[in-house]
Amino acid sequence: MSTAVTPLARTLDQELLALARGASLECLCCGEFVMRLRGVLACPECRALLADGKEVPEIVLPRVSAAG
Ligand SMILES: [Zn+2]
Repeated sequence: MSTAVTPLARTLDQELLALARGASLECLCCGEFVMRLRGVLACPECRALLADGKEVPEIVLPRVSAAG
């Protein structure tokens, strides 16, 4: 008997890995496209940052001019 359980944390971890490797370019928070800035994936929509290391470099995200 085999039980195939995929914990949510594991799925999320794989999503993060896919993002970090550039396999996926969708924000995990809002699903918008993220952009690479100095080795960090940044979402201009919801301002989520995904850094590979522990330290997140200071990044100035471009403003989304939709709400101007
Ligand atoms: Zn986002």
